Amino acid sequence: MIVKLKRNPDENELEKLMNFLREQDVSIEETTGERYTVLSLIGDTSSIDEKLIGRFDIVDKVIRIEEPFTKANKKLHPESYVVDVDGVKIGAGNFCVIAGPCSVESEEQIFEIARSVKKSGANLLRGGAFKPRTSPYAFQGLGKKGIDLLLQAKKETGLPIVTEIMDLSDLDYFSDVDMLQVGARNMQNYSLLKELGHSKKPILLKRGLSATYNEWIMSAEYIMTGGNDNVILCERGIRTFESYTRNTLDVSAIPAMKELSQLPIIVDPSHASGKYSFVQPLSLASTAAGCDGLMIEVHNDPENALSDGPQSVTCERFRTIMKKVGKLRECIL
Ligand code: PEP
Ligand code: MN
Repeated sequence: MIVKLKRNPDENELEKLMNFLREQDVSIEETTGERYTVLSLIGDTSSIDEKLIGRFDIVDKVIRIEEPFTKANKKLHPESYVVDVDGVKIGAGNFCVIAGPCSVESEEQIFEIARSVKKSGANLLRGGAFKPRTSPYAFQGLGKKGIDLLLQAKKETGLPIVTEIMDLSDLDYFSDVDMLQVGARNMQNYSLLKELGHSKKPILLKRGLSATYNEWIMSAEYIMTGGNDNVILCERGIRTFESYTRNTLDVSAIPAMKELSQLPIIVDPSHASGKYSFVQPLSLASTAAGCDGLMIEVHNDPENALSDGPQSVTCERFRTIMKKVGKLRECIL
């Protein structure tokens, strides 16, 4: 971090600033030029708030050179991470497709979808049991029963399962779940993130509705700081001024995350668009842009789905998407 001082700083003020900086556990190198003095802070500056340094009247500018994250930082961990979800590898060239309904609704529904997506080549089964719905009157999910049904579907198909945790008080229900999803609305629920950092389970961390890349990676950092490096990022569209689609898929998030972090990044084209007909083109665009996988909402009867029917593709459509994504990957590999 570089601190540029205003011209002719007051000696007493400079001493106060130096005392503050000495408390930050970094070494300080002072360079005095003809007109300005520049202080270089060397060491781990991730916990220093540059705005606090900017509060000192004699400070002209503070420039952060290092990002405020270290655990999820590619510069410090250049090798791409591979996350293993009960034998299914994701990242560093291992491409993974997660498929299943928005919500688990019944035994018949989840079994039919699980069998079909498995046949089409999906690697993991998704399904919401605890659902974050905008309206308290909408279907809230089957809760623990939904997780039990997912586990039964896993037993038959062999597909490891992914489901969302909304509240820490439900954590015990998730002991056999292979990967826990932190949804967009909970991306900055820091007590949840900290607790998941103490587990060793893979965590699928969705990007918040209007989270910046920095905020998103800092949330991953919360999980990793607790000792859990098994984090997968999921771009699921962000809020923009466009209302034709539910959200706007930020394809740039893929190369951006590849540049900034060593963590795998997958894309959810279903929540990104809110339209089933957009799922194939967005899946192909994301695959071409280099994502490590996709998460697609699939339903056996989308018209009558209890949540997110408009964006759910049928099992047949999913099969076609899998074929096209497979062909595209052959071309770009
Ligand atoms: C979901 O995956 O069903 C979901 C609620 O996603 P998001 O948190 O991205 O809205
Ligand atoms: Mn959904």
